[in-house]
This record gives sequence, C-alpha cells and structure tokens, in this order.
Amino acid sequence: MSSTRRSVALLGATGSIGTQTLEVLRRELDSFELVAIAGGQRLEELASIAKEFDVLTIGVVSDEDRAMLATMVGPRVEIVVGAAGLSELSRCADVIVNAVVGFAGLPVTLSALEAGKRLALANKESLIAAAPLVAKVRSTPGAMILPIDSEHCAIHQCLEGSSNDPGHPDVRRVLLTASGGPFRGWSKERLRGATKADALNHPTWSMGPKITIDSSTLMNKGLEVLEASALFGIETDRVEVVVHPQSIVHSMVEYVDGAVLAQLSMPDMRLPIAYCIGSPVRLDHAWGRIDFTQALSLSFESPDRDAFPALDLAYAAARRGGAAPAWLSAANEIAVEAFLNDQIPWSRIVSLVSDVMDEYDDDPLNSLDDLFANDTTARRLAHGMVTP
Ligand code: NAD
Ligand code: MG
Repeated sequence: MSSTRRSVALLGATGSIGTQTLEVLRRELDSFELVAIAGGQRLEELASIAKEFDVLTIGVVSDEDRAMLATMVGPRVEIVVGAAGLSELSRCADVIVNAVVGFAGLPVTLSALEAGKRLALANKESLIAAAPLVAKVRSTPGAMILPIDSEHCAIHQCLEGSSNDPGHPDVRRVLLTASGGPFRGWSKERLRGATKADALNHPTWSMGPKITIDSSTLMNKGLEVLEASALFGIETDRVEVVVHPQSIVHSMVEYVDGAVLAQLSMPDMRLPIAYCIGSPVRLDHAWGRIDFTQALSLSFESPDRDAFPALDLAYAAARRGGAAPAWLSAANEIAVEAFLNDQIPWSRIVSLVSDVMDEYDDDPLNSLDDLFANDTTARRLAHGMVTP
C-alpha cells in the first residue's frame, strides 16, 4: 500500500452519488484509498463495498444495524453509529465525500470542515440549512468545499477566471442551468394530474428518489440557487435560472465585461465527482466526454415560474435569511417523503412547503441549537399538514 495515496471517506456510499464515486475510485486505486464508508440502509451492500475496498470502518444509523452488519463483516471491521459516528468518520480521511441525502448529512459537512478537511459536497441540504454555521467553519485552516453538484462544480470552474475578491464583484451574474425536469412545458392544469411514475421519470439524469422528485417540482433548482449563494458568496439576486433541456452546459458565469464562461460535458456525475476528489489535479479519464462529430443542439429558455412556484419560494427564503432556508429544506423533505409514501399528490408538495413558510417568523440562526430548533418546528408543522 503506497503512503502517497489520498485517503477518502465516502458517507452515503450506497446511494446514487455513492455508487458513482465507487466507480471513479475503482479506476483510481493508485491515487486513492477508501478508508471509511457509511450508509442508511442496504447493509449487505455496505458489507460488500467494505470487502471489495478493504475498508475497516463503517457507519450505520442504528444499534440494530450495527449488530446485523457485524455478523456480515467480522471483528476486524469497526462499526460506528448515528450522527456521532458520521462526525467521527468525517475527520478520518484526506477527502470526505458527503453523499448522504437530506439534513442527515449535516454532521458530515460541519465535522469535515471543523477538522480542516477537503469536503467533496453532494449533500446540498446541509449547506442550505446551516449556511451561516458552515461559513464560520470554512475558515478552519485546510478546510475546503469542492461542490459535486454538477451546476456548482461548473460554476466553481468558471470562477477560476474571477479575481476572487469577496462577493466576486467582477461577476455580473451566475446562470444556473436546469434541465426543466420531466414536466417541462406542462401547463398548471396538466400538472394537477402528475403521477409518481411521471415524476420519477427524469429525462437526462438518473438519481436518488428525493432529488428526482425535487427536480420534477424545480425545488431542486430553488435549493441550488441557495446553494450557489452559500458556496460562492454571491447574493441570490445575481443567480439566475436558465432552462437548458440537454443538460450539457452545466452552468455559466457572466462577467461584468459581458464574457460568459461555461463548462460543458455530457450529463455524467462521475466527472464532477472525479474533479472534486482529484482537485487541484484533473484525473486522466474523461467521464462524459462530448463527441463533437455528432450533431449537437443547445437550447435555452426561461423557467415557467407560475407553473413551478418552488423557484420563487427559494428566492423568498433567501431574502428572509436567518432560518428561512432551513425551514424551506426541512418542509420540502417532509413533503417529498409524504409524496413518495402516497400520502399527498404531486401538486401538494410545493403548496405544502409554501404553507409551512407562511408560518415562518424570522428566526435568527446563530448556533446549532437554533438550527435544530428551527428544523424540528418546520418538520412538525409540515407533518401536521400531511396528516391533519
Ligand atoms: P440516494 O438516496 O441515492 O443516496 C443517499 C445515501 O445516503 C444512501 O447511501 C443512504 O443510505 C445514505 N443515508 C441516508 N440517510 C443516512 C444517514 N442518516 N446516515 C448515513 N447515511 C445515510 O441520494 P443521491 O441521489 O445519491 O443524493 C445524495 C445527495 O447528493 C443529495 O443531497 C442530493 O441532493 C445530492 N445530489 C445528487 C445528485 C445525483 O445525481 N444523484 C446530483 C447532485 C446532487
Ligand atoms: Mg444539480
């Protein structure tokens, strides 16, 4: 085993991003060593990843899972549990990949940055909910966020041309591209009949269930507006959403002189994943390479903000600041879960989030206690609206 290999902890190893990260790592075993994994379900898959990569530390969510997994992996493997376990694993490697879905990814984001690690961040919900707290721990020496979310990875690369002064004054606007999801072009009336099968049928990306539903409501894009603002310190008034159905231009940055820089590649998450774990070195394998000998059309249009009100809800949450983004994300998690459990129709997802936001009362967000209190309140309100 070479000591020059970069160690990687992959939290959320059994999901869509997790599985694609493993595909990247399989090609790069001379440069990277997987030392820890965690997952919320699929214990057999965790055991099989541990065996394949000779991983000796695994995180699970409960003591029952720990007992069950122990019978599969044997005594050589250490198993840690819950949020404390995730925090511990987030300090144990050079690169921490946060591929957990939802607010549950918060301990990974905070602990990795507090420990001065390189955080390859797919989990947008933790950053959005905890933005003021994340901003504080980002200044830890060595701490760095590399965004895996394809749009933000594109923006990160396009900002390499920026002076990088605080707030990026040389940037006129960030153009965040959106595929438009499975319901692009649907009228409000047609959307009332949208089914689960329709919503899960994304035209260009294959992803986990929560983000697939978020893409169908455009809440994913709303969350990404907040994510971009938190990552790059650019206020949301300078972040615009552009629908680009081909998902080849992953986002753009327009500078004050009118120059627009973009990052293009076929839709393949393994490219941003490889970029984030390899940075500042580009790994020598082209995931999602474009074949320019084939006909290629790129089109752009404005989003239909009337049919997809999630976008304006996100901008409104940004303007209110404080705990509003945390409320938005928490209420949305409950609404999406209720939709996936057949408790509410698709058309109720965003209206439920909107109803929860109507109850928001400008709470400051200065501490972890503030964040958990707000998260709990928003979830309780949302649950109450699912089952009144
Ligand atoms: P997924 O549902 O496929 O996978 C989620 C992973 O998190 C699974 O391994 C699950 O077991 C694990 N997990 C859930 N709760 C956990 C807990 N409490 N402790 C430990 N592990 C837990 O989701 P995904 O599509 O891979 O998305 C992951 C994150 O990446 C999300 O925040 C999503 O918004 C973001 N993202 C995903 C994509 C994509 O292409 N899938 C693209 C951009 C951003
Ligand atoms: Mg994205």
